[in-house]
Amino acid sequence: MSPVSYPYEAPQSQSLFERASVVTPGGVNSPVRAFRAVGGTPRFMVSGTGPYLTDADGREYVDLVCSWGPMILGHAHPSVIDAVQQAVSRGTSFGTPGQGEVELAEEIVARVAPVEQVRLVSSGTEATMSAIRLARGFTGRAKVVKFAGCYHGHVDALLAAAGSGVATFGLPDTPGVTGAQAGDTIVLPYNDLAAVEQAFRAHPGEIACVITEASPGNMGVVPPLPGFNGGLARLCRENGALFISDEVMTGFRVSKAGWYGLEAANEGWAPDLLTFGKVMGGGFPAAAFGGRADVMGHLAPAGPVYQAGTLSGNPIATAAGLAQLRGCTDEVYARVDAVAAEVGTLVSDALAKEGVAHRLQTAGNMFSVFFTQAAVTNYDEARTQEAFRFNAFFHSMLGQGVYLPPSAYESWFVSASHDDRAVERIAAALPAAARAAAEATA
Ligand SMILES: *Cc1c(COP(=O)(O)O)cnc(C)c1O
Repeated sequence: MSPVSYPYEAPQSQSLFERASVVTPGGVNSPVRAFRAVGGTPRFMVSGTGPYLTDADGREYVDLVCSWGPMILGHAHPSVIDAVQQAVSRGTSFGTPGQGEVELAEEIVARVAPVEQVRLVSSGTEATMSAIRLARGFTGRAKVVKFAGCYHGHVDALLAAAGSGVATFGLPDTPGVTGAQAGDTIVLPYNDLAAVEQAFRAHPGEIACVITEASPGNMGVVPPLPGFNGGLARLCRENGALFISDEVMTGFRVSKAGWYGLEAANEGWAPDLLTFGKVMGGGFPAAAFGGRADVMGHLAPAGPVYQAGTLSGNPIATAAGLAQLRGCTDEVYARVDAVAAEVGTLVSDALAKEGVAHRLQTAGNMFSVFFTQAAVTNYDEARTQEAFRFNAFFHSMLGQGVYLPPSAYESWFVSASHDDRAVERIAAALPAAARAAAEATA
């Protein structure tokens, strides 16, 4: 099969981007969509079917972003679309409780053993923000431990990732976050249990919670070393803090019970709170946080910790999420796992053939390629990669109709709809892209 060739120019996207840039800061509503890291014009997509996206110029791409994770069944999956159409015909929001919320909550509780109760929200950011407030309210403590390179949404207190090495008090990463908002955040190097132990020693009785991505995908894929998450759970328990596992990306994607299902369930420990988003919304704004009933019972109106949302548990979003989760069968996970492994191997083989130093890292069916030789276990190591090689690789793939995440520091995602034809199109594009990566210069 010969490579599918597309012209590099995208006049309709270019024109839309120019209009967007007048009325929207940077022309986008979420920064990573803007292609700032890789250069060029972001593609404006108009439709999606299965593993394919079609842009405003009418070009089709094999999608390896899947809306940053949510589209695990593929785009416009009939069962999700049908559930949405049925729900929308009954009205779009009532501001009262509804049956869909109960069913989605029951589905989550049934899938993830440590989740005894769950509260629905509208974004992953809201989920982590609320989980941290709850942890602080429950423990009566102020400080939060997070790890450099872990992203938990744009929560003020969690936009501190400054300083690697030993326990560093977080400095805000962005203007608009004050020292007061980030000052109770302790940022530690990922996969460094000794640093966490030391932080607990340095701040006895002050740390409300440790929050971590269950398996980080927001600095590229950097899985936890064996025993790291279990060690965090133990240290939290010993020190009266809560362990929050952020499964917004991994939840219901890497297994029926997310990363918890892959790792913790076998090791005999459990997070106190978990956060979810992405897959559970079926492409709509639905997210959640949940965990121990005694902790969740501190939330209003059952308890004193306030948390609310006009559109929380929105009937369309819950219908979409429920249809998607019900469609995520063992066969679906088996297919997603198999395609992820296949694509990862194809990419790695193509790069090896061109002599490009790289590292394929995987976490279940999430994977990414670092353009560096050594294994990457934390953010500092991730940043040693030759990202300029990724950028050349990215543009070659894009030009050949394969849509990768527009940054070297993001996970790649596949869906159960990625069939042999889609994989063949990826395979056909790889030799030229690997050559472009090999020839790239900083
Ligand atoms: C995407 C993500 C978030 C934020 O979710 P939004 O819905 O974008 O607010 C939080 N945590 C992790 C691990 C994520 O991947």
